[in-house]
Amino acid sequence: MQSFNAHYFDGKKSIPKSVTLELHDNFVRVLELDISYGFKDIEIRAKLKNTPQTVSFPDGSYCELDAADFFCLKNDKFILKIESKIRYALISFAVLALFVAFSLTYGAEMLANALSPQIPQSAVEKISAQTLEFLDKNYMSQSKLDNKTQDFIKRRFDKFLNKNADFTLHFRESELFGANAFALPNGDIILLDDLVKLEENREFNGIMGVLAHESGHIVHMHGLKSLVKTSISSAIIGYLSGDFSGFTTALATTAVDAKYSRDYENEADLYAMEMMKNSNIPTKYMADLFDAIVKKYEEKTKISEYSILSSHPAMKERIKKFREDENSQGINP
Ligand SMILES: [Zn+2]
Repeated sequence: MQSFNAHYFDGKKSIPKSVTLELHDNFVRVLELDISYGFKDIEIRAKLKNTPQTVSFPDGSYCELDAADFFCLKNDKFILKIESKIRYALISFAVLALFVAFSLTYGAEMLANALSPQIPQSAVEKISAQTLEFLDKNYMSQSKLDNKTQDFIKRRFDKFLNKNADFTLHFRESELFGANAFALPNGDIILLDDLVKLEENREFNGIMGVLAHESGHIVHMHGLKSLVKTSISSAIIGYLSGDFSGFTTALATTAVDAKYSRDYENEADLYAMEMMKNSNIPTKYMADLFDAIVKKYEEKTKISEYSILSSHPAMKERIKKFREDENSQGINP
């Protein structure tokens, strides 16, 4: 049973009497006067919000209640309950929508940045090894480049770019991925034959640029961050839709596709430019190699879904960037 403080007016005198109004299942009782009125006989008149509300009784007497108390009265309770439920539902929905939007954008980025460095090295190794194994089994084969070329590229890479970091270069061939290169979070960099074949510079300076770019992805942990972000999105989408199938496939796709965000690509490009500058490799060679890739793929009618062009959009912009860099012609040409 609920009770409220009210002012009772007998309908004759305008002097109020402080009373307690008890709310029972189907009647109200004015405690001090010991009078009860059935619910069906009382009239509840809603007034302006936040002003005292009136409950009129059949004998001409009435009570004034605080607005908050009044709204608890049973007759109105039902409607108010519904209204507040709708309001709460709307608020909850808005909060949920904001949370989802946040989690998929800034929240995901923040979480990815915070979580990626915490992933144990053993897990990083395992994810990377399994990905390479998966790719080798399904889409790649051993490189057909001669040993001399492989050794030359490896030595050059070790000398210029691999001084302070632990990267491992793997040569492979893949019809599906075409002229491409990609990095795995543990430091493995996979260089595909078709890309090497497009290089016209005998020192493989363009390839060094690409390898530097891939090193940038590893150093900045773009692979792991993308993986964390994809996992969050997939988990949320799975939770909301009840369909978790995207969760498992997304993990594989992120690693294989290497479709990083534009920000990650820019970051890796900046890293490559810095590395090339430090090693005195003119960035124009990177632009030359990109030009050759564009030309090669323009000749074909269909561009592979996994080519470097689709995993690295805005290629023309990137060519311009590398061609116009201050180190485009090298520091000591
Ligand atoms: Zn990239």
